[in-house]
Amino acid sequence: MGMFDLEEEKLLAEIEGRGARKILIQLPDGLKAEGPRLASLVREKTGAEVFVSAAPAWGACDLSLDAASRLKADLLVHYGPASSKHDVMPVVEKAVPLLQGTTIGLATTVQHLHTLPDVAKFLELKGFTVLFPGRGPWAHENGQVLGCDYFGIRKLQPQVDSFLILGSYFHGLGAALSVEKTAILADPYDGTARSLSGDRDKIVRQRYALIEKARLFHSFGIIVSTKPGQCNPQVALSIRNQLEGKGKRAVLLYTDEVLPEKLMDFTGIDAFVDTACPRLALDDPERFPKPILTRDEIMVAVGVWTWEELLERGLVRL
Ligand code: SF4
Repeated sequence: MGMFDLEEEKLLAEIEGRGARKILIQLPDGLKAEGPRLASLVREKTGAEVFVSAAPAWGACDLSLDAASRLKADLLVHYGPASSKHDVMPVVEKAVPLLQGTTIGLATTVQHLHTLPDVAKFLELKGFTVLFPGRGPWAHENGQVLGCDYFGIRKLQPQVDSFLILGSYFHGLGAALSVEKTAILADPYDGTARSLSGDRDKIVRQRYALIEKARLFHSFGIIVSTKPGQCNPQVALSIRNQLEGKGKRAVLLYTDEVLPEKLMDFTGIDAFVDTACPRLALDDPERFPKPILTRDEIMVAVGVWTWEELLERGLVRL
């Protein structure tokens, strides 16, 4: 058994309760190694046939509904991030001297939500006032952030001096790009705590420069994802119309995975606009053969929003 709780009893009860005979199990990449064990367990205990998805699974935005229906599966079991057994207190202790001010916005990912009451108590004993962000469109719990949902911490921003984000660098960076106050990351996976202000400033500068450059581009490919939670064709159509209104050329590109090597084939395109996962453009732009902008950044490039309005909304938004 690893550092995550896969709730095997609940899984078996659900399969039995629904009388499911054919099951597709989808696991995030970090948990795929558990797939064969889960498949054997389910077969042995319930007799159901199990298919473990070997395709990438990015989160709740990425349910394999089409694959499950092609298989004629009775049940799709989609594991999101599982509850973590990491002891978070050592990294929280390391983060304390880095916190700014006395009122702290405390947030984490679903894996560590159960630790928040203890972390808050610890910080209060150190003299801090701790506030939790509320829910967002995708983050369904108070105190939770998601790779593309930082609505709660943005709303909380006026009431706090700085933020403490408990989780991976990916989630800490998303938070830092979404708020203007200092975000401190306490990372239980690598055991470090650090301010992400420098990382934020660097990316904000790069994005500003890219948007300025994009104003001069002529031809855009607007990426639409087939994934249920990332599929925004209406947003793409509206962006295409805005671009054409400015005398630019734009084509809608429809894809499951947004793979840089596949985009290379569209040689006549100057830049891409991503209406799928916003983190594709922000986290690894150098992976792509051409510049790639988020759906919000292109609004600045075409003059609908100002750069300041974009920063106010936060750079990460699905
Ligand atoms: S859209 Fe991107 S950031 Fe949001 S849940 Fe999906 S993979 Fe994560």
